[in-house]
Amino acid sequence: MSRLLIIGCGGVAGVAIAKCCQNSQVFSEIMIASRTKSKCDAVKEKLQPTTRTVITTARVDADNKEELTALIRSYRPDAVLNLALPYQDLTIMDACLECGVDYIDTANYEPEDIEEPVWRAAYEKRCREKGFTAYFDYSYQWAYQEKFQKAGLTALLGTGFDPGVTSVFVAYAKKHYFDTIDTIDILDCNGGDHGYPFATNFNPEINLREVSANGSYWENGHWVETKPMEIKREYDFPQVGKKDMYLLHHEEIEALGRNFPEVKRIRFFMTFGQSYLTHMKCLENVGMLSTTPIVYEGREIVPIQFLKALLPDPASLGPRTVGKTNIGCILSGRKDGKEKTIYIYNVCDHQECYREVGSQAISYTTGVPAMIGAALVVTKKWDRDGVYTTDEFDPDPYMEMLNQFGLPWVVDENPRTVE
Ligand code: NDP
Repeated sequence: MSRLLIIGCGGVAGVAIAKCCQNSQVFSEIMIASRTKSKCDAVKEKLQPTTRTVITTARVDADNKEELTALIRSYRPDAVLNLALPYQDLTIMDACLECGVDYIDTANYEPEDIEEPVWRAAYEKRCREKGFTAYFDYSYQWAYQEKFQKAGLTALLGTGFDPGVTSVFVAYAKKHYFDTIDTIDILDCNGGDHGYPFATNFNPEINLREVSANGSYWENGHWVETKPMEIKREYDFPQVGKKDMYLLHHEEIEALGRNFPEVKRIRFFMTFGQSYLTHMKCLENVGMLSTTPIVYEGREIVPIQFLKALLPDPASLGPRTVGKTNIGCILSGRKDGKEKTIYIYNVCDHQECYREVGSQAISYTTGVPAMIGAALVVTKKWDRDGVYTTDEFDPDPYMEMLNQFGLPWVVDENPRTVE
């Protein structure tokens, strides 16, 4: 019986909250706190009659540590699940440390203003030293390792699908299928169609920043960087079919590269249709993806935030989206001296997700693992003092809960590989 404070009330949070309510034995009480309290109240109104979990709501600005600490002290949760944006990760971690509660999130820190001089100088130094230029990386949160260890608290980072489940798939493969893993290809395929000419499946600002950036992969202990969308492959995804996919930089590569030093190459591919890419390129070319404020008719606006206001809200795509996602990992290595390749993946149907929790599969595949990560932390099945990613714990209870809570997985021991 535990109490969870959930921060943020967007697409991913909507699913995680519904799943906490399905798991009342663990989550006897939850508080939903976000910037716009009316959204939290609407979710409570919908779910409270369906569950024994006692739901309360609050307004909080998660950029403000004092507001957060006051809220945590008054609610006294066992853990805080951060489902706001990556911009808020560090303030929420600080507040958790100050109040002595465990911390869980789904995406690693990146700053809102990438032109801020102190951050920019550290970023440029990191680009030179590490060789990848993504705006997000684990260094800011890994820097909290000692603080969480000394406080006797757990910070579980990145428990969405990718990162999150994909990292658990690697830990599971290592535990049950391999003595040594040589290569990992993480494949993220969305075969869904929402019928709009252009929309993003999760927060547009975070999504477009990620997709328009340089790609990179990990090879023999180093980053190899590519131009955006430079490496393209076709793959025939089980239950989805043939799709073009492109190599992207992705955060779990950084953690897996560190935690599984034996692995020689780690790549991440995501599928995109031509129309999505053409729209994105055009928006980028005219400056609409910029996060640097401009003054328009006497008022400061951030182009990508204005674009977000124009695009469909990802949380509204549920009723329109048809088709399936397929996300998983192809791993090659050796077991008992023999070469071996396996593919662990989950297939998720957009319409089935919508019928169950009123949301499309992208929010679903992130919200379910967010609840699972939180459940394992509050029940102390995953209990380590410090800051860890999901690949650093026993994968078995997580894999069991994926089957139990709507994301069943498959192990194919004879898969097609990616060239
Ligand atoms: P949304 O934009 O739908 O929701 C974000 C929520 O956070 C909104 O409710 C928003 O409030 C709230 N919020 C934003 N800023 C603040 C603040 N300062 N204080 C309090 N609340 C705030 O995003 P998603 O649900 O699509 O994504 C949520 C997270 O999940 C993101 O971090 C994203 O990167 C991550 N993610 C991870 C994935 C994975 O596989 N690991 C995949 C997809 C997403 P308001 O309603 O007022 O705007």
